[in-house]
Amino acid sequence: MMGRPLARETVAALDEVIEDLVAANRILAAQGVVDGFGHVSARHPENPQHYLLSRARPPECIEAADIMEFTLAGEAIDARGRRPYNERFIHGALYEARPDLHAVVHSHSPSVIPFGIVGETLRPVLHMAATIGARVPIWEPRDRFGDTDMLVSDMAQGRDLARAVGTGKSALMRGHGSVVAGRSVREAVYVAVYLEVNAHLQLDALRFGKPVNFLSPGEIDKILARQAKGRPAEGFDRAWEGWCNRASVPFKRRG
Ligand code: MN
Repeated sequence: MMGRPLARETVAALDEVIEDLVAANRILAAQGVVDGFGHVSARHPENPQHYLLSRARPPECIEAADIMEFTLAGEAIDARGRRPYNERFIHGALYEARPDLHAVVHSHSPSVIPFGIVGETLRPVLHMAATIGARVPIWEPRDRFGDTDMLVSDMAQGRDLARAVGTGKSALMRGHGSVVAGRSVREAVYVAVYLEVNAHLQLDALRFGKPVNFLSPGEIDKILARQAKGRPAEGFDRAWEGWCNRASVPFKRRG
């Protein structure tokens, strides 16, 4: 897959990332975050200027041989006839803007859509959703690009979306879906699943017509501090093991 021979440790790290990426695709499909569309990528563990993303294929069908390598600008390194996703620029633009991020999920998960089209702010209402960020920004492509086909089909649009994410971990894309990111594939999947869960719960709560008691900034900070100290089998890893089981993919313990 690579243009030059790689050290054995690099191959091992790369194999693990590809394994998690295949599992992530199948988990996100099993959890209803992606359907035939949507995708998840990882930054290349050896070359931070490249990222890994499947060829254009429904996430629940993806196998290791589908994973392609791209430059941040979205050029395939060794396509071998595999057709990439049109919206791969979402991933490269975010990796370019944010060296701290190592995985990105783009989905059309349905419960977030009402927030984008009404301009209602999505905020954590559930302790498990503190990772989505205190307020999820909404990206409006029309501001800079006028009427488009709504796809992020070049780096200019990808960079504009990355600007909306800013220093956070997520953004809604008006009339389209969302993008979320994490420091690992497992974290990004966790954020993507709980973004959808939180949106569903916030919508339910709004139906009472009463003020919603959101998590406070202090509560969010304390939850994130606890998660940062998490050991294997806690937090992201515990969720991941359950989701692997649900998606019928093997669970691999890391660390
Ligand atoms: Mn899309």
